Amino acid sequence: MSEVPKRCDVLIAGSGPGGSMAATFLRQKGYDVVLMERRRHPRPNVGESLIPHFWTYTDAAGVTDRLVAERFIAKAGAFADWEGERRHMAFRNYGFSRPALHVERDVFDHILFNHAVGNGAQAFEDCTVQDVEPGETVVTRYVHAEAGAGTIASRFMIDATGQQALLGRHLDVRQADDDFRFVAIWGYFEGSSYMAADGTMQPPENARTIAPTTFVTGLPYSGAGWCWHIQLRESTSVGLIVPTERIRQARSQPGGLEAFFLQQCAELPQLSILLQRARFIPGSLNVINNYSYTSARMTAPGCFMIGDASGFIDPIFSIGVTLAMYGAFTAAWAIDRSLRNAERAESSRAIFEQQIQTRMAVSRALCRPAFRAPAYTEGRLKAAMRLYSTAEHGLIRDVTGLSGRSINFERMSDPAAA
Ligand SMILES: Cc1cc2nc3c(=O)[nH]c(=O)nc-3n(C[C@H](O)[C@H](O)[C@H](O)COP(=O)(O)OP(=O)(O)OC[C@H]3O[C@@H](n4cnc5c(N)ncnc54)[C@H](O)[C@@H]3O)c2cc1C
Repeated sequence: MSEVPKRCDVLIAGSGPGGSMAATFLRQKGYDVVLMERRRHPRPNVGESLIPHFWTYTDAAGVTDRLVAERFIAKAGAFADWEGERRHMAFRNYGFSRPALHVERDVFDHILFNHAVGNGAQAFEDCTVQDVEPGETVVTRYVHAEAGAGTIASRFMIDATGQQALLGRHLDVRQADDDFRFVAIWGYFEGSSYMAADGTMQPPENARTIAPTTFVTGLPYSGAGWCWHIQLRESTSVGLIVPTERIRQARSQPGGLEAFFLQQCAELPQLSILLQRARFIPGSLNVINNYSYTSARMTAPGCFMIGDASGFIDPIFSIGVTLAMYGAFTAAWAIDRSLRNAERAESSRAIFEQQIQTRMAVSRALCRPAFRAPAYTEGRLKAAMRLYSTAEHGLIRDVTGLSGRSINFERMSDPAAA
């Protein structure tokens, strides 16, 4: 193992899509980057359905060819069985020439991490960042499994620690989102059928020839719970988004969460048909509590929070990974601009903050189901919606409509543009 340096230009904590992509973008600009990851790749991660927007960032990072070579499952769009109505959409109808993907996140994240290392980032796995002192020189304390505790000084620091939200907690700016109080429970099946974009049910062996959709369905009890079905190469990821109060009862029932999960899978009408011949993979159940939060601030002197470290609302639109990549791109831009001209450091930080806060606010507004009104009509969000193209407006309208969430899209968008 090489020694952890004492200084660098940019220290990045966390190597999910946000951290690894930020490391690559900054290396492309010639900066000295240290990337610290508390686990070892490949490691599991949630978030396997990707929208086609993410290619913009992988193109910029130069990692698209490597991802294409992996031959992840191309997904056609989404299929919803929601409150008795069945609706579907295909990305190609909105001008996308490249597919959306269903990815095994251990493999996907590992590719992005290796690409950052290949571009010259100094990466340290089994290395946990413990705390950060923002300032003109940022001081970061870490513990490395072999080297032990140490500190590293950097001109800039990026917090890409995901749901750990290291800096947000440290600065006490992370705010739980009371409107989205859910627990996610997900597990993996072998041999599941899937829904194609034309509304037909297909056996798993057809996934290479007839592209699957991400299938979503609402849970029958109130509270906007829902379920996903994501066809992967060797297995199928099935997840439940369950209101927190409902999960308390589930934990105390015989068999605990796993029994609850399997019972729900068997009771949801269309899902149970897809899973008719499938086998649950024992031990594959995972849980994340209270994953919805925002941050009152997403920067501090010398520091930027990106991806889930800056906030996360709800996985319904599969935009988490794309937002993490956007945060990586924007933070790298802001750091580069600041290092080229120190007088621009404050304005760069402000632009980053405004960009990420606005995207988060738009995403939060679009995630709100109709019954969660009052809804957003704020001018800032209306202005942000005007930046989307007509095709993108059509896509947002239709995708939010699949799960009964288009109320804020209608309020925020200018009918003429939409
Ligand atoms: C239930 C659920 C379903 C989701 N489904 C989707 C989906 O279908 N599509 C989608 O695009 N998004 C989805 N998301 C969101 C997606 O998972 C995240 O937005 C995305 O992974 C964020 O990337 P990131 O790089 O910010 O963080 P992460 O991918 O979480 O990576 C953070 C990294 O930081 C490391 N780390 C943490 N703390 C430290 C520390 N102190 N020191 C060093 N390293 C540390 C972690 O080990 C990890 O490797 C979902 C989220 C949830 C909760």
